[in-house]
Parts: sequence; C-alpha cells; structure tokens
Amino acid sequence: MHAACGICGGELVLRYPGSGRPLDSSLLSPTNHRPGEHPDLYRCAGCGTLQQAPLPEGAELVRMYRAMRDDAYLQEEPGRRRTARRVLDKIAPHAPRGRLLDVGCGPGLLLDEARALGFEVEGLELSRSAAAFARGRLRLTVHDVPLEEFEPDGEPFDAVVLADVLEHLADPVAALRRCRDLLAPGGVLCLVTPDPSSVTARVAGARWWGLLPAHTFLVPRATLRLLAAAEGFELVDDSSLVRSFTTAYWLGGLAERGGRMAAVVRGARRAVPRRLMLSLSLGDERVIVATRGVQVPTRPAPASGPGRAPLPPRTPAAPAVRAARARPSWRPATRSPRAGRARSE
Ligand SMILES: [Zn+2]
Repeated sequence: MHAACGICGGELVLRYPGSGRPLDSSLLSPTNHRPGEHPDLYRCAGCGTLQQAPLPEGAELVRMYRAMRDDAYLQEEPGRRRTARRVLDKIAPHAPRGRLLDVGCGPGLLLDEARALGFEVEGLELSRSAAAFARGRLRLTVHDVPLEEFEPDGEPFDAVVLADVLEHLADPVAALRRCRDLLAPGGVLCLVTPDPSSVTARVAGARWWGLLPAHTFLVPRATLRLLAAAEGFELVDDSSLVRSFTTAYWLGGLAERGGRMAAVVRGARRAVPRRLMLSLSLGDERVIVATRGVQVPTRPAPASGPGRAPLPPRTPAAPAVRAARARPSWRPATRSPRAGRARSE
C-alpha cells in the first residue's frame, strides 16, 4: 500500500478491512449499497479522510465508469428530482442564474431542474447509458470526458455542482482546483458528499452506507472545508442533505444493512405503502456551498506526469491545507463573520 494520505500526505492506518473482491463496473452503480464489498479502507491520522489505498488507476476508473449502467436509478426519479431542487435551492441565493455545470450528471435530472429554473446547463458524464438518456430523452448537452480533460466553450461557469461525485474520484484535490479554474470569480461551487465524521457514520461503523467499493475518498466535513479554503473558495453554506425517496427505497436500504434491524425492516416494508415519498436527512451527507475568491492561492507545481503513482503523496496540497488551518477563520471550531452565516442542520 501507499504510505501517504491522498489528501494531505498524512499517515494511513487500516480502518475497515475489505472483501478482497476486485472492483468492476457492476460495483460502481449509485444504487449498489451492499455492505462489506469495499476494498481495504484506510483512515488518515492527519485529516481523518477514509480512503482506498492503492486506488485503481485513473484511466481504469474512467473505463469502468464508462461501462457502468444503473437501471434502478430512475425508478426513484420523482424523489431524485425533489432532492436535486433542494440542492439548487442552496445554490440559487449565491448564483441565481447563468451557466451551470453538473460534473457526473448521471441521466441529467439536476440539469433538467436547473434548466427549468432558468440556468444555461451542461453536464459531464462518463457512463454511456446515463449520458445517452440525458441527451436523448432530456435533450441536454452532456460531454463524456473526465473533469480534468473538459475544455469548455465560452464564458466561465457561474455554478459548478459535484453531487455524489467527489468521493468517487482518484484525486479530489485536483478536482476542486479544476472546478475553481472553470468558475468565474464569485462563481459558486456546490459539493454534496458523504461525511465519515458524522454521528450517523460513526455509530453505523462498518455498516455505514458510505463504505462502498465505488468510494475512493470519504472526506470529513472539517477537512473538506479546509480543502475548499486552500483552493481559494469562501464557504457560504454548509448543511446536511435532505433526500427524498419512496418508503420502499429507504426501507430497502436499511434492510441491506443487515443485523437485527433487517427482519424488523422487512416486516415494515410490507406494511407501508411502497410509493409514499419520504424526505429525510440521515445527517451523514453534507452540502457545502462556496464561492470562488477573486485571488487564486499560490502553491508549488503539482507532481505529475507519466511516472505518477496511482496515489501520489500529496505534498503539493499539504502546505496549502496547513496554511488554511493556520488561518483562524478556517479553524473548524472558530467561525469568521462570513463563515458564521453558514448553517448547520
Ligand atoms: Zn490526510
């Protein structure tokens, strides 16, 4: 394994031993929540990020995502649209209109909702089947390239969304940097990602739904805020995601967790109307909204090139994170007047 954390370069300690099952496209789909199928997961002693080490090669990940299909995803379309509107409601106060990019847009439900609100929308999606739906059925502009290879036409974006995406990437720090480069000054970045430092995740332990084969990095809320700050973003909102699904889907997810709860839940599934919509937050997924500062932070050139290891030591990011930590306004426990406006739910 690699000795260093992919976020801050800190020391890794084995936290959740994995199944040993090799990663393939069938394990990557968003509706796959079977517990215990993830590879070994390590926790960074420095920043608390849970991560796979070693990671699949970036090109290999891209190949698997292109082949991924998730036929169950759209069965929950009404709830997913409602959840997407909630995410857009967090963005709108800071970017009420303009160009919006959804990275990893799937079949395009968030883009479709954003377009209805008046945004000019584009998406990035590697899965061929999801991108085909977005283009064919929803008439959306979707590019099938990874974020790092995307070269947009026209003006910079007013909003960039990474909903349930950061935790799938081979290099989340590089992704934040790329988002900053794609945004206009003052533009809005919206990150939705599972929080391994949440009470729910800690209580659930090895049965937490966030521990999936597809999840390469699970970044704790405080670390995520530091990373965003280090990349020149100013936090404007930090809340817990409220998701909408049918009762059947919610209870199905709980039953999959197994244990003594599973039998009870299976009974409840038979007793409640299956299509009833239920909106709730488990408190373990954050919605972070931040605006791109005018000043771009300076840092040493990142180590890259053909000889780059699958999970390089993040020496370039480490000084930036340390520098952000040293700024009193970005200590997680201390809130600047501006950060103080961010709400916790
Ligand atoms: Zn770390």
